[in-house]
Amino acid sequence: MSHSSLATLLRQRLAAVEERLGRACQRAGRPRSSVTLVAVTKSISVEIARLLPELGVRDLGENRPQELWRKAAALPRDVRWHLIGHWQRNKIERTLPLVYLCHSADSIRLLDALEQAADRQGRTVPVLLEVNASREPAKHGFAPEEVPPLVPRLNELRRVVIRGLMTMAAYEEDPERCRRTFRELRELRDALRARLAPLHRLDELSMGMTNDFEVAIEEGATMVRIGTALFGGLPAPGEGPASPGGSQDGLAGLA
Ligand SMILES: *Cc1c(COP(=O)(O)O)cnc(C)c1O
Repeated sequence: MSHSSLATLLRQRLAAVEERLGRACQRAGRPRSSVTLVAVTKSISVEIARLLPELGVRDLGENRPQELWRKAAALPRDVRWHLIGHWQRNKIERTLPLVYLCHSADSIRLLDALEQAADRQGRTVPVLLEVNASREPAKHGFAPEEVPPLVPRLNELRRVVIRGLMTMAAYEEDPERCRRTFRELRELRDALRARLAPLHRLDELSMGMTNDFEVAIEEGATMVRIGTALFGGLPAPGEGPASPGGSQDGLAGLA
């Protein structure tokens, strides 16, 4: 696919997502500016990701540190990189300077390691605590009931600044069934807020993906992380250009 037809396709995908975002905000009685779209670029090549800033998309999410390094090296410096996946501790030093917000602070061990690395580097690290609100055993994150007892430890952090909470709902055919998960995250945030202030200000709720972001916005999401709706069917990292006859579903219905 040529550069210009890719740009056209991305523009259409963005417009479609924007429309869904706008409608969800309207239903929730919230301004569109209260929700940040984080475009999750994990499934696309550097070449395609490079088009996003040109289209006005500056918040980009990656779930693997190495892929974030690769893309950060190739994209403009004003991109805000969101790390949304599990962060192995041996990748911290190199990733820290690149990350605008870490959505996936999923253990006390990681928080301690981030605190130490940030101290060595003389910087602060904004994070969201990842909460496994859907309680799926395979998922990373704190169980909701684990977080309140951690408040005293969280209030000892100096370099790590907690900006809010993040969760991933279980996949549901009917996204309405994710509402309970999102509501639980918001209620947990509301319960923690006063106890972590003024050191940490829990303004952000990162929740909602392609399948369920409208419901998440209705429940108070301030950041939605969207991959498939924007990039389904486009060439993956390390792959050649997209073939228009490709078999993945995302390209269908957009021509
Ligand atoms: C991949 C991913 C997303 C994007 O999911 P889509 O369903 O493709 O929109 C969001 N959040 C996390 C943590 C992810 O790993």
